Formats: sequence, structure tokens, C-alpha cells
Amino acid sequence: MHDGIRVTIWNEGVHEKEMDVVGKLYPQGMGGQIAKSLEGRPGIASVRSVTLDSPEQGLSDEILETTDVMTWWGHTAHDRVTDENAARVHQAVVERGMGFVPLHSAHYSKPFIKLMGTSCGLKWREWEGIGEKERIWCVNPGHPIAEGLPEYIELERTEMYGEHFDIPQPDQQVFISWFQGGEVFRSGCCWHRGLGKVFYFRPGHETLPIYYNEHVLQVIYNGVKWAAPTRLLAPPKRCCSEPLEKME
Ligand code: ZN
Repeated sequence: MHDGIRVTIWNEGVHEKEMDVVGKLYPQGMGGQIAKSLEGRPGIASVRSVTLDSPEQGLSDEILETTDVMTWWGHTAHDRVTDENAARVHQAVVERGMGFVPLHSAHYSKPFIKLMGTSCGLKWREWEGIGEKERIWCVNPGHPIAEGLPEYIELERTEMYGEHFDIPQPDQQVFISWFQGGEVFRSGCCWHRGLGKVFYFRPGHETLPIYYNEHVLQVIYNGVKWAAPTRLLAPPKRCCSEPLEKME
């Protein structure tokens, strides 16, 4: 048993290398920026960053077994994540309770699609290459992920994601976004899958400084805390079972 949440930040890490604008915006990679924002916060024991280029794609048994919550950012290289590794992430969530926090374009990541069982498709637009205004409304202010946040978060310039988002009905809906162009989107969604919890959070387009917004980073921190595994004295038993009481 250990204290605090051991976080692994999984970042694809391709745009940072291939697009100047992204490399300049995030010299340590988007993963590095998210990691920095989590380090030292109450309840966080450790933060480790891995990318697609890490040994075993950053998804080795050793890493998965020592991760309480994994955040995931991917976009251009979803297909390069092996099916075997995606299946092991899925297994870590449902069987061991590892929390999973897919961000932005991770809606099309293999582990998320496998956890949802739907296409996870959506509408998008990068208006004139500069983006448009988004208001992320908190629709569940009593939820732990709403802690320390205003009524809404405003992003001046961002990529639009719109409905319909092909996901199963969330177990809890925390945020809904409005976009300048008129669309809405379920931006913060929670699901329980087996022993694990999944929190999808929309913001994070790579060419814009979204992961420098303190409210966005607060949501990710809150999401990590919410998705952390429940500590059990014993794993649940699923088998033929003797009665607990004497029966006649
Ligand atoms: Zn994007």
C-alpha cells in the first residue's frame, strides 16, 4: 500500500517534434506541461511522463502496474499504439481500477474507444486556423471535478468539437461547452468501467496554449483525483459462492 496517487502522463509526442508551432508552445511537450502542473499538488505522490517513443510505447507491465491514474493525449498516431497495448490499458482500468483521463483528441484513441464500445466520433472545426471562443459550463457543481472552479471556463480561441459525440450516455456529466459558431458539446464526462473510472475532458488543441490555462489544469487535477482507484481490502470475488448464513 502506498500514499497518494501515482500518475502517468501518456503523451503521443509527435506534433511537438513535427510542428514548429507546437514545439515552441510546449518545449517540454504537452505531456511535460501537464506533468509540471500536477507535480506537488496535494494527494499526488508521483508524476511520470511517457510517450509513444518510450520503451514498449510507455505502456509496459511495470508502468501499468505502478500507475493509479493515466492521462492520455494522442491525435495523429492513434494507429501506432499496438492493439495489445491498448488492450492492456483497458484491462488495467476494468480489472485493477486504474483511472483513465483521455484529453481532447484522445476521443479517438484505441483505449478510449475500447472502453466506450462506440465510434467516439464527433464534429470539429478549426475556424480560419485561429479557432473560436468556447465557454465550458459546469453543469454538475456538486461533483468533485467541479472543485475550485468558476461557473464557466472561457477559452478565447480554440478548436470546436460539436455534437453529436458518439459516446455511451455518461454516468455523470460535469461540463458542457458552447462554441461561438453555435454548437454545443459534452466536454467533461465520467464513466465507471469495471473497477475503474474514466473521465474525458475536451480542451487541449495542440496549436493553442490551452494547457497553460489554470482552470483547465485544475479540471485535469480534479479529474485525476476523481479517477483514482478505490482502495479495497480484497478484490471482488466472481465465482460460485457458499452461503454466508446457515440455510435450511
Ligand atoms: Zn485538436
